[in-house]
Amino acid sequence: MNIVIVSSELAPFSKTGGLGDVCGALGPALVRRGHRVVTVSPRYGGVDLEAMGAEDTGVIVGIHAAGWVHPVRFWRVRADGVDHLLADHAMFHRNGIYGDSQGTFSDNHLRFAVLSRAALEAARRVPLDGGPIGEDVLFHLHDWPTGLLPIFLEGLYRPLGLFPRAATVLTIHNLAHQGRFPAEVFRDFDLAPRWFGPEALEWYGDLGLLKAGLLWSDQLTTVSPTSAREMLQPEQGFGLDGVLRHRAGDLHGILNGIDAKIWDPTADPHLPAAFSADDLSGKAKCKAALQKDLGLPVTAKVPLIGAVGRLDPQKGIELMLDALPTLIRETGCQVVAVGTAVAAHAAYEHRFRELQATFPKNVCAYIGFSERLAHRVEAGSDLFLMPSRFEPCGLNQMYSMRYGTVPVVRATGGLADSVENVDITKGTGTGFTFHWYDAQALLDTLRHAVWVWKERRPEFDEIRKRGMRHDWSWDAVVPAYEAVYRKAAAVRGLPTEER
Ligand code: ADP
Repeated sequence: MNIVIVSSELAPFSKTGGLGDVCGALGPALVRRGHRVVTVSPRYGGVDLEAMGAEDTGVIVGIHAAGWVHPVRFWRVRADGVDHLLADHAMFHRNGIYGDSQGTFSDNHLRFAVLSRAALEAARRVPLDGGPIGEDVLFHLHDWPTGLLPIFLEGLYRPLGLFPRAATVLTIHNLAHQGRFPAEVFRDFDLAPRWFGPEALEWYGDLGLLKAGLLWSDQLTTVSPTSAREMLQPEQGFGLDGVLRHRAGDLHGILNGIDAKIWDPTADPHLPAAFSADDLSGKAKCKAALQKDLGLPVTAKVPLIGAVGRLDPQKGIELMLDALPTLIRETGCQVVAVGTAVAAHAAYEHRFRELQATFPKNVCAYIGFSERLAHRVEAGSDLFLMPSRFEPCGLNQMYSMRYGTVPVVRATGGLADSVENVDITKGTGTGFTFHWYDAQALLDTLRHAVWVWKERRPEFDEIRKRGMRHDWSWDAVVPAYEAVYRKAAAVRGLPTEER
């Protein structure tokens, strides 16, 4: 099939979290299955076009929005068989994807409307080897920033006879972020008034970009089977459970894969030593090097607990901050936390710094974004902490299992689907799980995990190895997406050219 992946984040060009990783890895996996893949994502301020080997396609399209013609220029990077098109517009040239230290950008509705329009124009107009990918494409959309694309397709393009057979699949990575904007910005989209109605963009008096995408995409997916069930309930539906129940027959839960090339402990350029399930000796070297880097005592006698991720209430930060002081006092364990918070949750950054100040020999809080350190933490830690309040899929627990680092997770969403609770009497399980969103439940689970690490080392090593041997690759995941693509294509009569 001809597939256009459209996303506000796409690694290695842009990433704040799992969305970027997923969109970056999906394309090459689809190409390996014989599909033709183009991606369209913004060229943000930080992207070094030269270092990325980007070439100017020479194509500039004018997009009408907010009473203005917005010129968008396309850069092209070809990698792993995928044509990446970077949409270049002054609105994207900022220090931040959705916002900066001052808060969220106030024109995000316009920035991402331009992205959706740019993707539609790119399919028609940007020549690649042998011409543009064309109108017979499946648009694979991701989260609220792309929710307008099916509306533009239906409201602006199809009335002109364009894209008659194009199909759309929207993947929900995080239902908590819905792209809600005040009703008055509707005029910026250049759409006929009927698209304002409740059957399209209107959402309790505001505009809901994700909600519109959920109603108008041909098929929907989310990133784990458990989340697909959870989001139909009011407790985890973030107000959209009713809309989702309406589309329940078209909603599919597909657990994410991981980029097995980037996250490979046998060949990871960020690590001081390689290791595998058959030979874990390199992992001990990674732990010692990490302790040294972090300024913690270099010792194999205490477990090192890692945590990497956005410092957001979603991630169960409260539980960590409540449970860790007691655990550290009782067990002498070490903790490394790597993360950043958006302006609204900056207090978490201070609280982690305070934890480090209270336990300088046990805790290192790295407040910042570091890909290298994230790899070294996954490799050098013994346990990985992810007590999320909700977790659509989560990637870090899969990275940690691949690196022989045993996850301690709350059994929700994709964490429930990817981590099997340990039972040392039966010799089963890949991590330690708990159910109640409660600091005491986390503390008890951590105590048990540390006890197994200290007192049952052979069993602990078996847990590590079971996680390492699992196939988390995208190649194992892609057939499930293909099945959804075929359903979407059937709705529109889009040819699928079976391999
Ligand atoms: P989410 O998408 O909710 O942020 P995931 O677990 O799915 O959570 O993905 C998070 C991704 O972002 C992982 O690749 C993780 O390593 C990365 N990440 C998050 N924060 C940081 C950070 N401060 N430094 C390096 N990598 C980070």
